[in-house]
Amino acid sequence: MRKLIVGNWKMNGSLASLAEIDAIAQAGQDYPKVDVGLALPATLIAPAAAHAGGLIIGAQDVHARPSGAFTGSLSAAMLCEAGARLTIVGHSERRAMQGETDADVQAKAMAGLAAGLHVILCVGETLAEREAGHAESVVASQLELSLPGDADPAKLAIAYEPIWAIGTGKVASVADVAAMHAAIRAKLAELTGPRAAQFRLLYGGSVTADNAPGLLATADVDGALVGGASLTAANFVPIIAAAAL
Ligand code: PEP
Repeated sequence: MRKLIVGNWKMNGSLASLAEIDAIAQAGQDYPKVDVGLALPATLIAPAAAHAGGLIIGAQDVHARPSGAFTGSLSAAMLCEAGARLTIVGHSERRAMQGETDADVQAKAMAGLAAGLHVILCVGETLAEREAGHAESVVASQLELSLPGDADPAKLAIAYEPIWAIGTGKVASVADVAAMHAAIRAKLAELTGPRAAQFRLLYGGSVTADNAPGLLATADVDGALVGGASLTAANFVPIIAAAAL
């Protein structure tokens, strides 16, 4: 399976960052066996897409509805028109700060897929849930309630992002990632049958050039969703290189 490495720039970047995006796009061409994307702030999608080359430019969220009185939101068609080819849905920061539910996330995923966007659907447990021994059941429930039942594995990837590992410098151990990704694959088999093997499962949470080789060599880790370390080519390109090993 081709690995997928996507950077999530969150609320970072400006037009001055286009040079950095260019540098990532250029360097990505050295790794033709890896799919590389950047989920950018909405203001950067169109200018970045104009000279992205093979780099997949994406959004960090999408509204579930095609149009209407949803102040501040962007529809899937609007994102496509701006040049996005991908969107994240269900990032834990949106689930926590915007109160998004699994049902909201499922509706967003369906809207993205219907418009032809690639979708990265995020799941992951809190530290308290892990410490209580509920990590796998929490993630299984998120999948059950948010994965569109007919999702095409070529168009949708799952990102396992333990919330306690995001932006904290605390990376999940390879053993924990392997166990969770195996559990996700098993849950996908229950939900989607034989298609389960074809979904790409990304790990996200404090991925860096140092820990990427170990994580990306782990069974059932088909890529990474990278926050902080995706902001510069210097930090992001070695992660892409690790996916090509
Ligand atoms: C993220 O926000 O999806 C993420 C994984 O962030 P970081 O790599 O900074 O932990």
